[in-house]
This record gives sequence, structure tokens and C-alpha cells, in this order.
Amino acid sequence: MSEIIKFKTLGFIGLGAMGKPMVVHLANKLPPESRIYVFDVVAQVMDELCAQFPDRIRKASSARDVAQREIVVTMVPEGSHVRSVYLDPQNGICSTDISTKLLIDCSTIDTATSLAVKGYISQNFPTASFYDSPVSGGVVGAIKGTIAFFLGCAESDPNVKRLTHLMSLMGKEVIPCGGPSLGLAAKLSNNYLSGIIAIACSEAMDMGMRSGLDPRTLAKVYAAGTAQNTICDRFNPVPHVYPESPSSKGYKEGFKVQLMRKDFSLAVDMAKRVGSKNVLGEVGLKTYDGASRDARCRDLDSRVVYRYLGGQEDWQERPNGS
Ligand code: NAD
Repeated sequence: MSEIIKFKTLGFIGLGAMGKPMVVHLANKLPPESRIYVFDVVAQVMDELCAQFPDRIRKASSARDVAQREIVVTMVPEGSHVRSVYLDPQNGICSTDISTKLLIDCSTIDTATSLAVKGYISQNFPTASFYDSPVSGGVVGAIKGTIAFFLGCAESDPNVKRLTHLMSLMGKEVIPCGGPSLGLAAKLSNNYLSGIIAIACSEAMDMGMRSGLDPRTLAKVYAAGTAQNTICDRFNPVPHVYPESPSSKGYKEGFKVQLMRKDFSLAVDMAKRVGSKNVLGEVGLKTYDGASRDARCRDLDSRVVYRYLGGQEDWQERPNGS
């Protein structure tokens, strides 16, 4: 019997841009006898999922109700929501006996909150298992089922096989990062690096273009040289350098600049907390903060930072260097 059969009842809390398509994958791929109990503070999205999968998905009345199932996945926006979903004394997951449960938080939050929730669970329900497992790959990845999970545990953890099996239904890669909260530490440091590269790429492209270079030549030079990186290659902030990049589609369908601001800020806080020197953090945070408040950039892909910094978007219509 396949291990997948063991996921008889599963709960999922937080049915937003990421959570909803993740549930759709579970509903399509779990065996027919599995049931998924969903909960969100917005009733409409629960109703939509129940209507789409009347035999598979059930509406729960609270996070506590969801916690009656053997496995619970949570996917909510911020640390305050994770605290409330797990620790609310009336309706939270921990307000019922969760001694035998497997709990997985996929939200991108601060490591301190994740460790506090884990600490509470370990103290009150020592046989329960809680893992941080933030994801990367965006809404498009969640819809396509290609997201990556950064799992906060060692490769030798006894639950790794089960967790990997479950997450593989929703994504393409599961990377155990070593221990509790390290999935989040990995995710935040990744987004810090990606955010900084996008700013540096925007500035480098702009100075090259204003000097008279075609941005496609610049991108070729970076790809051949020591500056090669994925942001320049596949997410180039300058429109029409890479046809599939969000910038070439009006900065739509990407990773929202407000989410980059949130993750960047969490990364800078984490760096402070662990005593890591962080000279680019302040300027990066100021840049993403400004861009996420700017009406020309808000709700668009974070590489719109190029626009925020005054980059030329209509370069195809200009003579070289003007
Ligand atoms: P979202 O705002 O679209 O969805 C969050 C959902 O959680 C909403 O439906 C909201 O109603 C629900 N919610 C909030 N508080 C709740 C509570 N107490 N109980 C039940 N439901 C509650 O957010 P999202 O884009 O799905 O992101 C979720 C998490 O994933 C965030 O931490 C985000 O940083 C991370 N993430 C997002 C992306 C992305 O591109 N959107 C990519 C990677 C990671």
C-alpha cells in the first residue's frame, strides 16, 4: 500500500493566492478516499473549493476544527496570523488535543514566531510534530505545482519521508534545511539575496543603457561574465530583454513588491537577531518600502524596482543612449 493512502484526513488553513491552488493539487492528487478540511476567515473561498470538489473537500468551522484531522497545513500571511491560528485559546489549533498530529506551517514569517509556536507545542504536546516549511516559486508555481519547499528539519528526521511525499503533491522540490526554523532562515536569506540582486541589476542595466548599450547586449555580457545570475537571465527588470520575464508583461504575474518588502524586512530583522553584519539591508529595505508605497509600482512584480529607480522602460523607441 502506498504511503499516500495514509493521508486519510488532512486540514488546510489559509486559502489565499498560494493556499487555494495548493489545496487544488491535493484534491486532484490524493486518493479518492482522502478528505480535506479547509478553513479561512473568508467564507467565500471555502465555498468555492467545496463547490469545485464536492466529494473531497469539507468546510471546517475554525482552526481548532481543522486540527481534528491527522495532518494540518497552514498558509497565512504573517507571524501574527500564525500565532492566532495556532495559539488562540478558544479557536486555535493548540486549543484541542493535538498530541498525535503532524503540523506544517508554510507561511513566510519571522523565525522567532515560528520557534515560539514550536516551543509551545513541544511543551504542551510533546508527541506532536510541528515544522516550518516556507515555499518559493510564487503564485504561478503554486498553480503549476512547481513550488519548492524549504523544510525546517534534518534529513534524518523520522517524518521526512511522509512530509516529502505530501509536499511533492503540491510542488517539485523539498529541501530539508537542517533543523527547526532553518527552512525560514533559508527562505529569508534567499529572498534577501534575490532582492539585492534585482536592485543591483536595475542599476547596472541603467548605467550601461544610459552609456549607449543595448540592454540585450548587456544581459549577454553579464551571462558570459562574473555577474551571471538568474535575475538578469530570466527575471531581467528591464522590459523586453527576456520575453518571459514579468517586466516584459507590464510587471504582472510575478512576486508582488509588497511581499518582497515584507520578506526583506524579516531578513534584515533576522540578520540583526543573529548578529550578522548587514550593510545592504538598510538601503534595500528603504528601496522596497518606497516601491511598495509608490502607486506606479504597488501590486506589481518586485522587479518593478527598476521603474522605481527611474530606469528607462521605452528603450526600444529611443535612439542609443538618449
Ligand atoms: P494571501 O493574502 O493571498 O492569502 C492568505 C490567506 O490567509 C487569506 O485567504 C486570508 O483570509 C487567510 N487568513 C488570514 N488570517 C487567517 C486566520 N487567522 N485563519 C484562517 N485564515 C486566515 O497570501 P498568499 O499570497 O497566499 O501568501 C501566504 C504566505 O505565503 C505568506 O506568508 C507569503 O509571504 C508566502 N508566499 C507568498 C508568495 C506569493 O507569491 N504570493 C510566494 C511565496 C510565499
